Amino acid sequence: MSKIVLPESLEGKTVVLAGAAGFVPSTLAEKYLNLGARVIGLDNFITGSKSNIEILSKYENFDFHECNIYESLPDFKGLDIDYVFSLASPASPIDFSTLPLEIMRVNSEGTLKLLELTKEKGARFLEASTSEVYGDPEVHPQTEDYVGHVNPIGPRACYDESKRYAEALTTSFAKKYNVDTRIVRIFNTYGPRMRPDDGRVIPNFINQAMKNEDITIYGDGGQTRSFCFVTDLCEAIHTVMHSDDSSPFNIGNPDEYTIKECAEFIIKVLGSSSKLTYLPLPKDDPRRRRPDITKIQSVSDYKPVVGFEEGLKKTAEYFKTL
Ligand code: UDP
Repeated sequence: MSKIVLPESLEGKTVVLAGAAGFVPSTLAEKYLNLGARVIGLDNFITGSKSNIEILSKYENFDFHECNIYESLPDFKGLDIDYVFSLASPASPIDFSTLPLEIMRVNSEGTLKLLELTKEKGARFLEASTSEVYGDPEVHPQTEDYVGHVNPIGPRACYDESKRYAEALTTSFAKKYNVDTRIVRIFNTYGPRMRPDDGRVIPNFINQAMKNEDITIYGDGGQTRSFCFVTDLCEAIHTVMHSDDSSPFNIGNPDEYTIKECAEFIIKVLGSSSKLTYLPLPKDDPRRRRPDITKIQSVSDYKPVVGFEEGLKKTAEYFKTL
């Protein structure tokens, strides 16, 4: 099978990137700006950070529109657009209880608006889906052909089900209108530009460890996750955008840790004196999660290159600057 060839330059290309103020999208935006593309970022700052847009605004090939993409998109009349990235959804479990309807609207109505823009411009679209489409998986590691184990009315349903809908919408829209689409299923990702208070495990543990406070383990800490550093994740998104396969790709780092191992490793790497403390496990918290990334590796040279220790140190350095 022939491998994906990634472009050395994207000069002359225009990218619309929804959710640009988020930590993954802003890292991806910077990658595209450095490849020479013109990037137009969209965000409503519901969870994204203005500081991430300030970083991007230093590039003269960056433009930004503050907007709610599920209400309306900016007027792109007369502009050629090559790539549309759908990365606008809040994605942290703490957002699921505070922003459930916003999450459902952006992944349904927002995705539809971006698909319509893609069709109008003859562009290529990428939906940032999630490992959450597998729910609490009964298959391990998760391969793309696993159809999932999702509770449609549980605390994660607003995200899981709306991302499943976004995948169905993307696939149906592509078939009906012959639009060029891609789907990635993003597994746990961490790195600089994450919100320190976004409630996810890596920011929580790093911030607790840096202050020598107790590390809050939910449940017995035996549940697993596989953590990918943000630049490795963005390389995978870029790779899939340049593939010729419209079916979903798992992207992430398959190195798997229990949450307790993760806490102990962070204490060691940061030289912290924090102790572990145990809190109740949230409902429907997936027991095991690890991507099978054979599919992307069969069509590309993609390989995560940032190890967990290096990635944690870089993330801790970032939190120290805040
Ligand atoms: N978790 C934890 N302590 C925390 C935050 C999270 O033990 O302070 C656990 C959480 O219960 C889950 C895992 O870490 O099992 C990953 O949680 P996160 O919120 O980062 O994302 P998820 O993978 O659940 O979407």
